[in-house]
Amino acid sequence: MRTPLVAGNWKMFKGAAEAVAYAKVFRALAKDLTTVELVIAPPFTAVHGVADALRNSGIATAGQDCHWEKDGAFTGAVSAPMLKEAGAELVILGHSERRRVFGDTDADVTRKIHAAYAAGLAPIACVGETLEEREASRTFEVLDTQLKAVIDGVSGEQFAQMVIAYEPVWAIGTGRNATPEQAQEAHAHIRGRLRAWLGADAADKCQILYGGSVKPDNARAILQQPDVDGALVGGASLDPHGFFTIASAA
Ligand code: PEP
Repeated sequence: MRTPLVAGNWKMFKGAAEAVAYAKVFRALAKDLTTVELVIAPPFTAVHGVADALRNSGIATAGQDCHWEKDGAFTGAVSAPMLKEAGAELVILGHSERRRVFGDTDADVTRKIHAAYAAGLAPIACVGETLEEREASRTFEVLDTQLKAVIDGVSGEQFAQMVIAYEPVWAIGTGRNATPEQAQEAHAHIRGRLRAWLGADAADKCQILYGGSVKPDNARAILQQPDVDGALVGGASLDPHGFFTIASAA
């Protein structure tokens, strides 16, 4: 009932020329992969080039973050309307690296989500617990707090555009992925909360992605879980062939 979605988060890798070359290769590889929604999130400087190279391919381009204001004296920041103008259709928000390295709070994530909607971008909203929180049996509590911030003030119509990514912090870039059972447990919890807060229809339609050390050799088992609707892939999305293998498993 839900179309799988696989998104590649390149983090701070690849300049514009390399990014465009990748986009052309990936476009050719994925031309017959019509059963999966595909998204590539390059660094800001490559958004325009990648979106251009993917035009009319059905593969969407995303930003990796945005500011909550549309313009202003915010040196180093990029706004949602700027991403939209550059060709992005989605934006990743609340990624754990933004939360941990740059200090993004839940309140910041809420503001950014509303800025994304105002600019016509669909948010890929990330939630996930740290290892310490998991070991203290606080996973569900942490997910609930982050989820509340993600849906705060979001209308039903807006929520229909949102993608949620469950990314346990201990699995991101560590090579230690959640087991399929751990992923399914967290995803089922998230969907259950969405059902309670927003209704069955919204919950059943929401694409919930798993992210955290997804690789070509572990993707299928994770993606087969009933509440896992796709993947947000970091390191393994940097190679177009590996990313295509993961997308094909969805
Ligand atoms: C990510 O950056 O969202 C991510 C999941 O990274 P990795 O796949 O490298 O763990």
